[in-house]
Amino acid sequence: MNKDAKLVMELRWDPTLGEWVMVSNIRSFRPWQPTSFCPFCPGAPETGYGWKALILENRYPMLSYSPPEPQKHRFYKTSKSLGRCFVVVETPQHDLEDICDLPVEDIAYVINMVKEKQEEISKEDYAVYFLWFRNKGKEIGVSLTHPHSQIYVTPFIPTRIERELKNAEEFWNENKECLFCKIMEVEVEDRVRLLYATENWVSFLPFYAHWPFEIHTYPKRHVQLLTQLTEIEIHDLAKMLKIVLCGLKILFSKPSPYIMVLHQAPLKGDYRYYHMHIEIYGILRDEGKLKYAAGVETGGGNFTYDAVPEENASRLREKILQCSLQQ
Ligand SMILES: [Zn+2]
Ligand SMILES: [Zn+2]
Ligand SMILES: [Zn+2]
Repeated sequence: MNKDAKLVMELRWDPTLGEWVMVSNIRSFRPWQPTSFCPFCPGAPETGYGWKALILENRYPMLSYSPPEPQKHRFYKTSKSLGRCFVVVETPQHDLEDICDLPVEDIAYVINMVKEKQEEISKEDYAVYFLWFRNKGKEIGVSLTHPHSQIYVTPFIPTRIERELKNAEEFWNENKECLFCKIMEVEVEDRVRLLYATENWVSFLPFYAHWPFEIHTYPKRHVQLLTQLTEIEIHDLAKMLKIVLCGLKILFSKPSPYIMVLHQAPLKGDYRYYHMHIEIYGILRDEGKLKYAAGVETGGGNFTYDAVPEENASRLREKILQCSLQQ
């Protein structure tokens, strides 16, 4: 680290796409640590002992509740990186392969903990959106293998959520019904892409999947926020996640890398036309073959799907059923 380095932490507006970029060089201020050190294991400076799961403030965040003043620019728009970044340490067990290896009760415990954090954060003025996500696998760039997920509390609505809100609102106004309830109804009727259903949740590989093994999990009840879920719905969600993530894990000989994200309404305002859900992107196309978001996807913004979603759904469903039978 350069001793004279200046901390820059700000939001920069992309006027061409109309979206924020979070800029921070805080990681370059990180002290050296041996590679064997795990900051999430019991007994580490921030964790202590005697816990089942923990939510820690990220020490090298993109957003902070006391960010430095953004730099001024004669043309470009900048804004304060006001927000929070948390790490959810999901288990004290460092070597646990994935959260689907935890008992349902322990997964429910983690979801409840995140729900409580959201309840607390919702009261903060700056908090516009609560994005909970999980990156799994070194292919996604995960360096700390201790099972964990992350929360970004942002002062803006993330772009993909904004797009979903816009389309859901249009559909609601035109058809007087929820777009997501409709999708769930169609996927259940079609059956071919359906992966698993529990009492309160439905999982399917959508007709319009972007990633090879994409799993969408919807609550059957039309709700907008994680904080609206009941105790029973959360327990049932834990069961659903355990089963579908287990299916994804045993799909290939090595566990599949994936991204999991909670899509819910912004924390404040009326978004009754929206329907919360979880999206999981399994990024392996086949044994050892990664799907990259390359020229067409990143450069153009549209995905190519090098298979047929119905066939991939059938492959994944077979594994998910195996997992459900072990339950
Ligand atoms: Zn650890
Ligand atoms: Zn709905
Ligand atoms: Zn979504």
